[in-house]
Amino acid sequence: MNSTTRDPLTILRETFGHPGFRPLQREIIDGVLSGRDTLAVMPTGGGKSLCYQVPALAFPGMTVVISPLIALMQDQVRALEERKVSAAFLNSSLDREEWLDTVNRVRSGDIKLLYLAPESLANERTRELLADTPIDCLTVDEAHCISEWGHDFRPEYRTLASLRDLAPRAVCLALTATATKQVRADIKKTLGLRDSAEFVASFNRANIYLSVEKKRNPVHRILEFLDQRPGEAGIVYCFSRKQVDDLAAELADRGHAALPYHAGLSDERRAANQEAFLSGDARVMVATVAFGMGIDKPDVRFVIHYDLPKGPEQYYQEIGRAGRDGSPAVALLLYGWGDAKKIRFFMEDLSGGELKKAEKRLQAMTEYAEARGCRRRILLEWFGEAYEGNAEGPCCDLCDSPPAEERDVTLSAQKLLSCVARTGERFGAGYVIDVLTGSRQKRVVENGHHKLSTWGIGTEYSKDDWFALAKALTDSGYLHKSGDYGVLSLSRDAREALTKREQILLAFEAAEAPAARHAPKKGSFPEPRDPESEGLYQALKRLRSGLAQAASVPAYVVFSDRTLDALAAARPRSREELLEVTGIGPAKLEKYGEFILKTVRGESL
Ligand code: ADP
Repeated sequence: MNSTTRDPLTILRETFGHPGFRPLQREIIDGVLSGRDTLAVMPTGGGKSLCYQVPALAFPGMTVVISPLIALMQDQVRALEERKVSAAFLNSSLDREEWLDTVNRVRSGDIKLLYLAPESLANERTRELLADTPIDCLTVDEAHCISEWGHDFRPEYRTLASLRDLAPRAVCLALTATATKQVRADIKKTLGLRDSAEFVASFNRANIYLSVEKKRNPVHRILEFLDQRPGEAGIVYCFSRKQVDDLAAELADRGHAALPYHAGLSDERRAANQEAFLSGDARVMVATVAFGMGIDKPDVRFVIHYDLPKGPEQYYQEIGRAGRDGSPAVALLLYGWGDAKKIRFFMEDLSGGELKKAEKRLQAMTEYAEARGCRRRILLEWFGEAYEGNAEGPCCDLCDSPPAEERDVTLSAQKLLSCVARTGERFGAGYVIDVLTGSRQKRVVENGHHKLSTWGIGTEYSKDDWFALAKALTDSGYLHKSGDYGVLSLSRDAREALTKREQILLAFEAAEAPAARHAPKKGSFPEPRDPESEGLYQALKRLRSGLAQAASVPAYVVFSDRTLDALAAARPRSREELLEVTGIGPAKLEKYGEFILKTVRGESL
C-alpha cells in the first residue's frame, strides 16, 4: 500500500482504529507534514505518540524516534507491529545478530519507524546508517530530558543537537509532557528549532480532583479511603521500598487486593504485579516512583501519595495516571511535617545548580501542600498556564471548603504548649485547660499543679476557646494526641517553637471577645462561675434531679455538687474528658456519660 496517498484521518481510523483526533493532535500532525519544526507539549495521556506515528505513515521515508525508555520502545514497536506498521528499535538490549538484522531492514527501506536510545547515537555505525537513510522526520520524545532545568536531565540528550546534521532534510518534532517556559526555550535552542511551531495543550486534567490531608495515621486513612470506594483501582505512591512492602502487606492483610512494585523486586515479580494491576486482578498498586512510566490503564480512579513527591513535575506525572478515561478521579496527597526534611536529606549529594533546582521544586511542592488557595491554580501556574476556574466539575479541597484565615496566636499557643509540658505531657486537653484557667479541682491540687507557673494564666479565652485552640494546635501538628484519654504531648515543631520563640499562625478564632470573660483570680476559692458556666450548671442540676427521680435515689447519689461544679467549668466534650472530671469514674461514665455530654452540647435528651 502506498502510504502517502492516505490522509491523517484515514490513517488514524484505518491503522489505529480511533474515530477522531484529540485536541491539538491534528494541528501538530498537519504542521509536521508541512515540514515545519514543532515543539509539542502535552500532558501524560494526551496522545503524543500518534503525533509522530501518523505522519510517519504519511511520509515516504523513515521517521526516527529518540526515546530514553528502552522498555517503552519495545512496547511501542510491538504495538505498531500488531497494527501491521513496520517498526524497529536499536538499543543496548539487542544482541549482535538482532542489531545487524535491524540495520539491514533499515537499509532496505522496509522500516517506517525506527526507535533509538540517545546513547546509540554515539555509535559511529548508527550514525553512518542514519546518514545513508532517507529520513523525513526526527522525533525527540521526552524532550525535556535535554534541559538541565527539567526534572529528568539526561546528558546524552545533549548529543541530539548533532543528530540534525545527519538528517538535514528531516522535519524535527520535539514532544514532552513537562515543560516550563525555561525548559521549552532550552529544547528549542538545543535542537535548533528555528521558526518552529509550538503547541502547548492545556495541562488541566479537569476530571482529577485535587486534595491534601495532614498525614495522621496514614495507614488507617488509606484503609478508610479504600472502604469508601469499593472496587475502584488506584495507585499508592510511597517514598521507600520498605514502605511499599510494609503497606502492601498491611493492605493485603486487611483483605485488599494490593501488590507492591519497586526497583528492588525481581524483573519477573515486577512484570507479574504490573500485569495483575493492569488486568484488574489487583486493585491497588503500592509503588515507588519506579512504577507508572508508560502505564496505560484507563480506569485508575485514584492516586494517593503517602509521601511528598520531590516536585510538581513528578507529582503531576504521577497523578496523571488517574482518570485517563475522562471519568472523575481523585489525587490525594497525605502531607506530613517531616516529609520535606526527608527529601532534603537525600538532596545532600547534589551541589550547585542541581541543588538549587531541586530545592526550588521541593519548595513548590510544599507550597502546593500547604496552600490556602486553589491547588489547581498553583499546579498549573508551575507549568506556565493560567487557570481561570474549573467549569467542568469539582476542583480541589480548598475550593470546596476554603480554610479559615490564619492569625497570630503565638502568646496563647505558648501558654497552652508550656502548660502541656509543665504538667508532664500526661493529661488530656480538659485537664491541661483546667490548670491553665486556674481550676482548684481536687485532682489539680493533689498533683500540685495549682503551684505551676502556668496555672491560671489562661485568662484571655473561655474554656471552649482553649479547647478550640488545643484542637487547632493538634491539627497543625504542634500537639500529638494519644491513647484512649487523648493525652497531649508536644511535637518536635512545638518544642522548637517554644525554645526559639517562633511565631505561631493558626486558622483559629476565639469565639468571644476577651473582655466578656472573667479572669480567675489566683487563690480565690471557690471560683465564681461565669454566666455561661452558670447556665450549664443549672441545666446539669435539672438533669441530675431527673436521673435521681428515675432511679428513686437522692440527687447526691447521682453526682455531688462538686462534680456538678466541675462539669460546668470543664464542659467536657468527650468520654475521655468526662473521665477527667472529679467524681466521674468508669461506672458513672457508663450510666450517665451520654446524658451529660448531650447537656453540655445543649442538645435535648
Ligand atoms: P502520551 O504519550 O501523551 O502519554 P499516548 O500517546 O500514550 O499518550 O496516548 C495515551 C492513550 O490515549 C493511548 O491509549 C492512546 O491509544 C490513546 N489515544 C491517543 N490519541 C487518541 C485518539 N485520537 N483517540 C482515541 N484514543 C487516543
